[in-house]
Parts: sequence; C-alpha cells; structure tokens
Amino acid sequence: MVDLQRTIANLARNNIKSFVLDSRNDILTFLDSQIPDGVVVGVGDSVTLEVCGVYKYLRDRNLKFLDKYLRSLSSAQKKELYLQNFNADFFISSANAVSSEGKIYNLDGNGSRVAPIIYGPKKVFLVCGINKIVDSEETAFDRIRLVAAPLDAKRLQKKTPCSVTGRCSDCHSPDRICNYYSIVQGQFDGERIKVIFINEQLGY
Ligand code: SF4
Repeated sequence: MVDLQRTIANLARNNIKSFVLDSRNDILTFLDSQIPDGVVVGVGDSVTLEVCGVYKYLRDRNLKFLDKYLRSLSSAQKKELYLQNFNADFFISSANAVSSEGKIYNLDGNGSRVAPIIYGPKKVFLVCGINKIVDSEETAFDRIRLVAAPLDAKRLQKKTPCSVTGRCSDCHSPDRICNYYSIVQGQFDGERIKVIFINEQLGY
C-alpha cells in the first residue's frame, strides 16, 4: 500500500521537498510556475516525462532546451549535450523508485541521468507517479531489477536477456543497462532536488 504522506515526511527529514499533483494534466502548469523564460533546461530519459508531454512542452517554451532527442545529433554532439546538463539551470527527470523511508533510487546505463541529478544543475525536479513509491530499500532494488530495468531494456531495444524474457538474469551483456545505481538520501541545499508526485500510475 502506497504511503504517500509518510514518504513526503521522510523526504522532508532528508531535506528534500515534495509536491503532489492530482494528475498528469497538472504538471505543465506546475512547470510554468517554476521555470522562467530564458533559462537552460536539461532532461533525463523518462517514460513519465514523455507521456506527460514534458519534452514537447520544453520545445515550445521560450528557453534553451538541451534536447537529447533531436535526431540530427551525432554521438559526439549528444555527449557534449550531456556535459552541458551539468551547467543547466534546471534538470528534469523521473526516479525508478522512492521509498517511504525518504530515499530516491535510480539506475542508469551510462550515468548521464543519475550524475546531473546528484551534482551540477541548479534545480532538479523528479517527476514520479505514485507507483514509484516502495516501502523499503529492498523493495526499491527489487522494483528496479524486476520491473523497471527489463521494461527499459526492451524499450531501448537492448540486446539483453531481459529484453526477451522480461526478467533480470543478472547478465554481463555488453548492452547491459544496469551499470550505475544511485541513492539520494539527503542534500545540503534543500531547494535543489524536489520530488513532484503525480497521483497516478506513470512510467516504470
Ligand atoms: S542486469 Fe541484464 S538482464 Fe538484468 S535487468 Fe539489467 S540488463 Fe536486464
């Protein structure tokens, strides 16, 4: 059972503020209220952000969107863009799990998402459906290994066992996306990372 209020309270104890939105329809209005024109915004890869229309919204805003999805980007340009994320004013991503103990869990293949969450951008918004809330660290890692990573590997068309079976077999494939785990369990600047919960099932 999702314990949203306990999660929010324990995130606050770890100096991480949260907001709760009723539905995905509220996220763009929220971002309007938080992100001024003219700033630089980077994003992490996220099904949640995609289905909420955040990428399209950023393309339409009067700001500099570090758009990693431009088809014209060469791999060198994409790498440069990932480095620019560290100097962004805002970085928007999701999380793979948030525990009711107040910790945020992520898994990444190349680190371009988890690294700027931890360090660099002035403000970070993590947009999460309430399906991302788990009750413990053990459940967070189970959620990532058994649900999020196999679905993500399949979405990204990686040549991994889980893309075929839907289950993790702790592979050592060259395409393995399970390379970097991160746990955020506090921060010095309480205005930097903020979690935006949406009261829906979103992403994985
Ligand atoms: S370790 Fe390999 S099999 Fe397991 S989820 Fe990650 S990519 Fe898939």
